[in-house]
Amino acid sequence: MLQQKSNLMAGSSRPLPDVQPGDRVQMRKAHPCGGDMWDVYRVGADIGLRCTTCDRQVMLARGAFNKQLKRIVLHQPSLEQGGESS
Ligand SMILES: [Zn+2]
Repeated sequence: MLQQKSNLMAGSSRPLPDVQPGDRVQMRKAHPCGGDMWDVYRVGADIGLRCTTCDRQVMLARGAFNKQLKRIVLHQPSLEQGGESS
């Protein structure tokens, strides 16, 4: 019997796409302008993306972003983790 229940409603424990503001991502679907590279400018309830080709900004829900994300082209070093700055 195959019963796979994915915890889509797991709330805060739901894994996020590992992106943060400043990252550059490539999406599966190209923007109407022809570009498929986006800069992440906001990570919150939605993911804010700015098209690097035409500079237009869009907001994607995390689920939609997850689906459309092809790869992370440029990943900023995390500033929050391993905060051992003396
Ligand atoms: Zn564009």
